[in-house]
Amino acid sequence: PSGEPGSTVGRPRLTVVSGPSGVGKSSVLAELRRLRPEIFFSVSVTTRTPRPGEVDGVHYHFTDHAEFHRMAGAGELLEHAEYAGNRYGTPRGPVERALAEGRPALLEIEVQGARQVRATMPDAQLVMLLPPSWDVLVDRLTGRGTEDPEVVRRRLAAAREELDAVGEFDATVVNTDVRNAAAELLTLVVGPGLSPHSR
Ligand code: 5GP
Repeated sequence: PSGEPGSTVGRPRLTVVSGPSGVGKSSVLAELRRLRPEIFFSVSVTTRTPRPGEVDGVHYHFTDHAEFHRMAGAGELLEHAEYAGNRYGTPRGPVERALAEGRPALLEIEVQGARQVRATMPDAQLVMLLPPSWDVLVDRLTGRGTEDPEVVRRRLAAAREELDAVGEFDATVVNTDVRNAAAELLTLVVGPGLSPHSR
């Protein structure tokens, strides 16, 4: 209800994207990054072990528990949470600098972190990426092949919990098709005045 048409233009926004493991967040966000390089994508800190192909400083800042604990204690994280036995957090400084520079900023985090952002930054919009169906999600999680069965089981349980939080989110995007989902997300992140074809 706030503002006239176009009021989102020139007003940088923080968007939080959550969604269960296996929903295709990284593919959709890679497509969004390709569409709009000026969007700031936060790089999280994690205690998780890198997966094959993951690069330190690009996909995550990989760190140990001691350094994570130090960062959290020093207030260097905008939010942080534990997920499937590992810790994840958003470095505060880069996000604040991006918003101050007028760039829309995007965090891809799980729901406990999304709740913390909602509490500390009421202007942030929360978007949940949804699978076309639960069966599709199970197939994707089982087929990834990089995790052992126990990890898959824990991620499915976590996925149910994530999906249960959908009512706390401002918007949802169903990932049936990566390009369509990225285009929908783009409209949410930069506002309807800046569609993919406007530049
Ligand atoms: P993965 O280990 O599959 O890369 O990520 C596991 C979960 O952690 C995903 O739901 C992902 O969105 C979330 N995550 C990644 N970075 C952060 C972060 O900085 N904070 C929080 N709260 N969750 C994160």
